[in-house]
Amino acid sequence: VWNFAAGPSRLPDAVLARAGAELFDRGADGAAAIERPFSGAAFRRVLDDARERLARLLAVPDNYRVLFLAGGAMHQFSAVPMNLLDPARGLTRVAYADSGYWSKRAMQEASRYAQVIVVAGHAGERPLSAPATGDWRVPPDCAYCHLTANETVDGLAYPAWPDTGDVPLVADATSCFLGAPFDVSRFGLIYASAQKNIGPAGMTVVIVREDLLQRPARAAPSPFCYRLQAASEAGVNTPPTLAIQLAGMVFEWLADCGGLTAVAAANRRKADLLYSAIDSSGGFYTAPVAPGHRSTMNVRFHLTDDSLTEHFLLGAEAAGLTHLRGHRQVGGLRASLYNAMPLAGVGALVDFMAEFQRRRG
Ligand code: PLP
Repeated sequence: VWNFAAGPSRLPDAVLARAGAELFDRGADGAAAIERPFSGAAFRRVLDDARERLARLLAVPDNYRVLFLAGGAMHQFSAVPMNLLDPARGLTRVAYADSGYWSKRAMQEASRYAQVIVVAGHAGERPLSAPATGDWRVPPDCAYCHLTANETVDGLAYPAWPDTGDVPLVADATSCFLGAPFDVSRFGLIYASAQKNIGPAGMTVVIVREDLLQRPARAAPSPFCYRLQAASEAGVNTPPTLAIQLAGMVFEWLADCGGLTAVAAANRRKADLLYSAIDSSGGFYTAPVAPGHRSTMNVRFHLTDDSLTEHFLLGAEAAGLTHLRGHRQVGGLRASLYNAMPLAGVGALVDFMAEFQRRRG
């Protein structure tokens, strides 16, 4: 059975097998890995190891800090403005690019803290595309400029990054994180919640440039304050220890797969297989996103005859292809092809789609 859920999503088989043995068996101290205190030496080793592995995978430059924080990406929708606004230095507004569902949600939260300037958007017509990145005019009193690197619901991704000059670029990379190499140095801050390519839900990775830790963040509660979290050895509050231990195993697995360049190539093959099945179906299936802007992680598609969608989903389920329903905001179908989905899973989906078209087309 292949699980195409958008998140929480499939974990690598090797990690699930390893986690069972390593995390839940009690050791000589009477504690299993998930029962040990977060301030103890054993967990510290796990934390440091996970941080180092992630930094190596992503080639994170030395002037960035990697934080593993409790909560999801939506916590960061508030934490980012709380930490980065700096009225004493005239940084009183925030800039956002509107690329779809999650960027709108991020803007809604940010508007509680500051005036939001929308610097780029998509016209909303089909085919869908990410905002053009050529000419973002970001006012200098903006504390940062935020984009959603991969829109999980809309199924689109930026093919290139904008240049925002001195205004630091912030990325919600939740649904594309670790799916391909990512040039951290283009960003002041990157965040991604875990439940797509990192591990189980409950943890969010924040990678932040050190100079941004100097901003006052007076309104940020301590667990949300990047400066305090970076300064504290194991974290200000109890970190999500299970999620961090599993993430460390996923980082190791990714290195064993050959690193992010190899992972990206495998992801490209999976996405190409599915998009070409859609594009060559003679209009039976359609993908609403323009080539070049199509997400390799979240493949959105529709049956042109929408009345067949429920039949498709039922048949798919019976064929062992689960969680293919599109997000309720946009309907249709969505296959999430995160790192742990093998090519064989996509092959099974494509075979089912051809068979369904033969029967219903
Ligand atoms: N941003 C993106 C791009 C997402 O895909 C999601 C969830 O799917 C979120 C933010 C919200 O994340 P969380 O549920 O971890 O708060």
